[in-house]
Amino acid sequence: MPQVIIRKAEYDYRTLRPVFFGIMDALGGQGMARNCRVVIKPNLLAPASPEKAMVTHPLVVKAAVEYVLERGASPVISDSPAMGSFEKVLKESGIRDALEGLPVQFREFRRSASVAAGAPFRTLSLAQDALEADVLINLPKLKTHAQMLLTLGVKNLFGCVVGLSKPEWHFRAGVDREMFARLLVEIYKALEPSFTVLDGILAMEGQGPGRSGTPRQIGVLMGSSDAVALDEAACGMLGIKPDELFTWRAAHDMGLAPENLSIDGEAPVVRDFKFPLTGSLVFGPKWMHGGLRKHFVQRPESDEDVCVLCGECWKYCPAQAIRPKVKKEQKKKKLEFDYDKCIRCYCCVEVCPHGALKAVDTLPGKLLRKITKR
Ligand code: SF4
Ligand code: SF4
Repeated sequence: MPQVIIRKAEYDYRTLRPVFFGIMDALGGQGMARNCRVVIKPNLLAPASPEKAMVTHPLVVKAAVEYVLERGASPVISDSPAMGSFEKVLKESGIRDALEGLPVQFREFRRSASVAAGAPFRTLSLAQDALEADVLINLPKLKTHAQMLLTLGVKNLFGCVVGLSKPEWHFRAGVDREMFARLLVEIYKALEPSFTVLDGILAMEGQGPGRSGTPRQIGVLMGSSDAVALDEAACGMLGIKPDELFTWRAAHDMGLAPENLSIDGEAPVVRDFKFPLTGSLVFGPKWMHGGLRKHFVQRPESDEDVCVLCGECWKYCPAQAIRPKVKKEQKKKKLEFDYDKCIRCYCCVEVCPHGALKAVDTLPGKLLRKITKR
């Protein structure tokens, strides 16, 4: 039976370090071989300061690095950010400063290797460094996710898909969240992280996982050797059933969800956590999906007063559904969305560095939601 360790914690390194070490010891971290190569994979979504709650906090990363060093092993910090350079994310997140003087390597995931995966994917291209690590430590951040409801242990490993292959996968999975969840579980299965420790000290609610989300103090670290079990425990803490989480449901269908959990510790009480709306409004035969999606599913919209037309969203959009357009009457440019092409992946909301995009309900969508209670 998988074990999930839950500990109250805060960003005070004197107290956080022993809490983190205690979680790792309880999960068998002391058995880590000397001289082994340990890849630490935080959530390094985009350049952002720790107060934005977008990236794994530098002190949590530091505790992981020091734990690995104490075992006599070699830590490497790696990820493939969705936006901005790896170096910029390390700098703005405070990770570079927090780890100054420690013998740790920083290596962006750049090279991919192919691994076998279940149907319909057959093969996946994942970061070679993550696949070849002796030990993989997964350090997700507890955040909402406009497309997948939450990003926790399983979802964090999508960062092991290198660079622009990420939007390609979004495009292949399309609007089908169940399919995308299955892909995420296949990635998790292929990588098999030895340890997952969730940074839920300053979490994110609302329109996560980017700048449109709202930081929310929860004060918890959770650890497990089984990220599906950890995600289940996190759902319980936030007041939802695990099968409301797409990745957990996919893991369950694939026989990877545990029958029972052994929980060590008590989760803080979290009231009224704000989730994004993800109830599927796409149903019926396939030929209807395009129309349903266009009229009923939440669509990305920009706040013209906040958007600076930096181009990050249209560069990243996997469906090439965004472009800047001159608005004649005001003689200024604004964003134009092609909602026929848009697959509702909300990558644009995720990568906008200015928090100018939101997933917004359409009027028919609102009505349908009321009727169907989705
Ligand atoms: S919406 Fe955001 S990412 Fe897109 S152009 Fe505007 S500021 Fe840049
Ligand atoms: S416009 Fe946004 S939500 Fe639509 S496909 Fe592009 S990135 Fe995804």
